Amino acid sequence: LTSSPKSSGLSIIHIAAEMAPVAKVGGLGDVVTGLCKALQKRGHLVEIVLPKYDCMQYDRIHNLRALDVVLESYFDGKLYKNKIWVGTVEGLPVYFIEPQHPEKFFWRGQFYGEHDDFRRFSFFSRAALELLLQSGKKPDIIHCHDWQTAFVAPLYWDIYTPKGLNSARICFTCHNFEYQGTAPGSELASCGLDVHQMNRPDRMQDNSALDRVNPVKGAVVFSNIVTTVSPTYAQEVRTAEGGKGLHSTLSFHSKKFVGILNGIDTDAWNPATDTFLKVQYNVNDLQGKIENKIALRKFLGLSNADVKQPMVGCITRLVPQKGVHLIRHAIYRTLELGGQFVLLGSSPVAHIQREFEGIANHFINHDDIRLILKYDESLSHSIFAASDIFIIPSIFEPCGLTQMIAMRYGSIPVARKTGGLNDSVFDVDDDTVPLQFQNGFTFLTPDEHGVNSALDRAFNYYRNNTEVWQQLVQKDMNMDFSWELSATQYEELYLNSVARARVAANRA
Ligand code: ADP
Repeated sequence: LTSSPKSSGLSIIHIAAEMAPVAKVGGLGDVVTGLCKALQKRGHLVEIVLPKYDCMQYDRIHNLRALDVVLESYFDGKLYKNKIWVGTVEGLPVYFIEPQHPEKFFWRGQFYGEHDDFRRFSFFSRAALELLLQSGKKPDIIHCHDWQTAFVAPLYWDIYTPKGLNSARICFTCHNFEYQGTAPGSELASCGLDVHQMNRPDRMQDNSALDRVNPVKGAVVFSNIVTTVSPTYAQEVRTAEGGKGLHSTLSFHSKKFVGILNGIDTDAWNPATDTFLKVQYNVNDLQGKIENKIALRKFLGLSNADVKQPMVGCITRLVPQKGVHLIRHAIYRTLELGGQFVLLGSSPVAHIQREFEGIANHFINHDDIRLILKYDESLSHSIFAASDIFIIPSIFEPCGLTQMIAMRYGSIPVARKTGGLNDSVFDVDDDTVPLQFQNGFTFLTPDEHGVNSALDRAFNYYRNNTEVWQQLVQKDMNMDFSWELSATQYEELYLNSVARARVAANRA
């Protein structure tokens, strides 16, 4: 296996199911890449372990090559061979694990949503730790993400420290507590965890279905550091309404649990260098933003009669969490207010996808409304650049990235005050917020009145106060949503945890 270069910083391994831009479904992919780049910049040795999916964007992996080793890892009482690939993604070294398992775990044409996701990712979690063990790595931190790699935490302490992989502290980040990956307890045995040992209330047993195991709960229990992706969400999930069944576990482990607001990758999301855009622009030259609006309207067949007609953008997975009924309402409200609306989104939920297809067809030749119901990276950049207002009416939102990206592109957010939106969007009419932080329009109650109260005000500002609007656009574009600050918070958690482990080891 490849050897690790010397570094005076920490050795940090991220084990994840997504990494932008090669394997991205949502925010998780952005976070893994953005955080890892920022940590690398701060002098740490950062490596990532990913599954080798067939559907990755292979053209974004540099120097991909198979290593001349066969990694055997345990599953279902047997050893299975894995091919190990290495490559560089966004300047970061990545290991890709390709199982030679007859069930072709990562050869499915999609990242998630398979009937055997629990098997696929418990296999991967175990193989990733096996890779670290067999390559002789001595990481200081192993950082796993979401339920797909949550297995890493119990596997590490139960199986791998006895085998000698024992240098690391485990950090687990939950990007969304809605997805916990529970399964019947018996399924846990495949990756080698002892079902009887694990299916206990103080370990992996699901808090509401006692015959089921819960990987996210397991990671909360077994990790040294547990984080989620914003301070407000960290509070919300400790309540019965917000915790999706895990509030008592999180409250019990509250000493090691913190919320750190995600950043965005300010290299990838930069209107001054963004090659997806028709015209690049910056805070001192906003003419380019208008040209992007004209270009997108042409591309989508929308009216170009009035350059000042406000354009509302929305880019999202269409799932109930995102307030799909409020998105639908915002489309019609925008029409009433005389604006244009562009939605880019797709839904894994069949009836939601069908409903939005109905709306898309209804407006198919409309001058002011366009719904594009697919995942499209390039188009997403064009919409951030072209839109004046960006709507995010989420029911709950662990962090949310689109409000930050929108601001960087000079599109003013209209957002519900929840989770990370509450930590990053501050109302221009809220006198309790210092002026320099006021950057958008917010509402609290997740209903149509709530949406109207914020969207109508945004339209009013845009139409009646051009100068104030322009200043708001410039203020938002100058806001710092980079990973710098958040990465230092992670670094501090890592360093404290490593220091505590050393003190404990010296005492022993
Ligand atoms: P979540 O992780 O819940 O999906 P986030 O706001 O944290 O939501 O991150 C969403 C990311 O996915 C953003 O980078 C957004 O631009 C991108 N995205 C969502 N839907 C689409 C789509 N249909 N096409 C392109 N990008 C999308």
